[in-house]
Amino acid sequence: MITPNMHYAELKDSYLFAGIAQKTKAYLEKNPEKYLYRMGIGDVSLPLCDAVIKALHGAVDDQASGDSFHGYMPECGAPFLRETIAGYYAERGVTLAADEVFVSSGASDELGDILDLFDRSSSALVIEPAYPAYVDANVIAGRKIVHLASGKENGFLPEPSKDAKADLLYICSPNNPTGAVFDRRKLQAWVDFANENGSLILFDAAYEAFIEEDDLPHSIFELEGARTCAIEICSLSKTAGFTGTRLGYTVIPHDLCRNGMNLNAMWVRNRTTKTNGVSYIIQKGGAAVFTPEGQKQIHENIGIYKKNAKVLMEALDRLGIWYCGGKNAPYIWMKCPDGMGSWEFFDYLLNEIQVVGTPGEGFGACGEGYFRFSTFGKPEDTKEAARRLVELLGKKY
Ligand code: PLP
Repeated sequence: MITPNMHYAELKDSYLFAGIAQKTKAYLEKNPEKYLYRMGIGDVSLPLCDAVIKALHGAVDDQASGDSFHGYMPECGAPFLRETIAGYYAERGVTLAADEVFVSSGASDELGDILDLFDRSSSALVIEPAYPAYVDANVIAGRKIVHLASGKENGFLPEPSKDAKADLLYICSPNNPTGAVFDRRKLQAWVDFANENGSLILFDAAYEAFIEEDDLPHSIFELEGARTCAIEICSLSKTAGFTGTRLGYTVIPHDLCRNGMNLNAMWVRNRTTKTNGVSYIIQKGGAAVFTPEGQKQIHENIGIYKKNAKVLMEALDRLGIWYCGGKNAPYIWMKCPDGMGSWEFFDYLLNEIQVVGTPGEGFGACGEGYFRFSTFGKPEDTKEAARRLVELLGKKY
């Protein structure tokens, strides 16, 4: 009899988003006339930009004719897109060979698949609060997980510590859910720590395009020594609205070796075994994101989300509530008022002002007492949610 992977039994139920869905559904059943202001969503609300749509249409037409038709695509990505992405890094002073860039179907897929590169006996450090997939993917693989709690005292950007060592180190910057961003000095400390210990950083840069302060690193490869200790996973989902279109990329430098094995070569071997590449049409759409026109258009869309962030931040400033994020990230992480628990605050906002956010506790135990707002909602909903928040909480302050 086949034995299933029993580690699945150790997974906690994905109660966070299921819990939110269940509570909002129950509320609407009781109050069918009410409209909900959804500030919890991690999905984008704006459509793909014009440059991408034109490229997608053009690529569909290519597939209609024998001379321009593409069958299987190279497993690691089309050369035109790998070169384009390497060029995007070069603009920020990071030199990458095109074959250090791997095209993927998105960061989630890659965060799970990349674990094929590491022995199951290796441990993983997750800085919490964290995007839940980091923990779950390692639970499935049966790895030991080291939870490193962060908090208000370190701005949710903890320093490495001898007491929290692991083989794989997950770093997400700009962070989901806290919106906090590592500066160069703090990120360099993690790179040095990884090189000293032979650890490997999995750097999740899904929100790099939201960074607006000049001196903050968009890529871990802007730091000295990162080429020998880091893999960077990126996505066009939030950058360019590709959540439903699916495209991402992963950078694995040639210098990354452990135990005489080269991780870039291992990933080529993995991809050529486990995928037949990402669709030609989608890769053409993805390449359009990096053209001058595409960059201008995606930044116009990001600007709309940033306005949402500003509206929410102004509301919290008026109320004198502590928060981080919002400036260089599409998430705002606030302290729940009056010592409320995060689910308690969730219920309070839902029942009193019909605003839905995400309870911080769902991102790890140290998220208790915090609450996440997403800035991907509709501007008119965000404005009304902020107005209601000030009206409700202003009574107390
Ligand atoms: N990494 C982080 C930190 C995210 O927040 C998300 C999505 O919300 C992802 C990865 C997944 O992105 P993708 O849509 O490319 O799978």
